Amino acid sequence: MQTKRPFTTLAKVEEIAAEIPTPFHLYDEAGIRDRCRRLKEAFAWNPNFKEYFAVKATPTPQILKIMQEEGMGVDCATYTELLLAEKVGFSAHDIMFSSNVTPAIDFQKAAELGAIINFDDISHIDFFKEHVGTFPETMCVRYNPGGTFEVANGIMDNPGDAKYGMTPEQTKEAFQKLSEYGVKNIGIHSFLVSGSTSNEYYPKLARTLFELAVELKDLTDLNISFINLSGGVGVAYKPEDTPADIKIIGEGVRKAYEEILVPAGLDNIAIFTELGRWMLAENGGLVAQVLHEKVTYKDYIGLDASAANLLRPAMYGAYHHVSVLGKEDAPADHTYDVTGGLCENNDKFAIDRQLPETNVGDYIWIHDAGAHGAAMGYQYNAKLRSAEVLLKEDGSFKQIRRPETPEDYFATMNFDI
Ligand SMILES: *Cc1c(COP(=O)(O)O)cnc(C)c1O
Repeated sequence: MQTKRPFTTLAKVEEIAAEIPTPFHLYDEAGIRDRCRRLKEAFAWNPNFKEYFAVKATPTPQILKIMQEEGMGVDCATYTELLLAEKVGFSAHDIMFSSNVTPAIDFQKAAELGAIINFDDISHIDFFKEHVGTFPETMCVRYNPGGTFEVANGIMDNPGDAKYGMTPEQTKEAFQKLSEYGVKNIGIHSFLVSGSTSNEYYPKLARTLFELAVELKDLTDLNISFINLSGGVGVAYKPEDTPADIKIIGEGVRKAYEEILVPAGLDNIAIFTELGRWMLAENGGLVAQVLHEKVTYKDYIGLDASAANLLRPAMYGAYHHVSVLGKEDAPADHTYDVTGGLCENNDKFAIDRQLPETNVGDYIWIHDAGAHGAAMGYQYNAKLRSAEVLLKEDGSFKQIRRPETPEDYFATMNFDI
């Protein structure tokens, strides 16, 4: 079995913790930039390839700035995500707006910024006409083929059960409507499987969308200018998982492109992605300290972090690897439940986990928390959101978001009682 190692050391964490109290999320700048470069390299065969980082995965300005420096755009889904993107300096076609159940004000803001707007539903087109009016030249439609989505070794997911996207018939109707409303360039978007480490997911999805593009190319005068494969490429959360290989994935998409689009004369279509997890998950860890050990019917290691800092284990039963910093090479000969302090019995980062002997005061590293980690933070039990810290390429660190204070928690409350 492969081992998973934190991207930093106990000594570094102690240095940071002397200034910034645990728990905190720590991100690896070098690792993030490396992902950006590997992704661009894997799709370098497609001259107009662009990644739109899914803001919801890690909505922190400094992280978005790194994305921008690496030539990435952002994918937003809500009004406030659009405001965040705007504050960081994104505009126009560096913003993809892939929303659903969209309020009018969100469409208005996206249009104001000149973002590429991706329609999730056929009814949103007339809703947009009513609330925004003029249609931008370049827009996108979200497609859902229904049924099950299968690759060689089985069913990956059930798009037919997903709330997103338009049926094939609706997609055609959307093309016709958008053409009628003056749109010139169109993209097709689809997100069918989440967290897939299979190297077959993107290529299979690409094939589906490329075939659709060929089918729709002469239906209207719309120019099909991009195919957006969205997010969904996963990471190896468990030590025994095989990671996705982005180079192989890029080559698989290229093969489909050359087999389907090129012969149909569609050899100028840009490939877009909206990866969140693959970009950031492994480049973030949640650092916590052991507050208590409790031995009853089981042996509990109680942390100063809780599900309020990382919801995925409680919400999805998701596995996150746990390391005891400084004991990475010690034998994992103890069995613990690693818990937070919420008054919820599912506030557990790990159940019956084999770890080295762990003591009060030890620093714990919860792996792969960089995407959908801090972002899903909440304030249940009045647990406050923790700090986010960037480990810079030169080895120094910077607090990129301060921890919340009780005053932040009280700020929206009315004490006129
Ligand atoms: C969540 C989401 C993404 C990112 O998904 P990952 O699994 O983090 O890659 C991209 N696009 C849309 C529309 C999403 O909702």
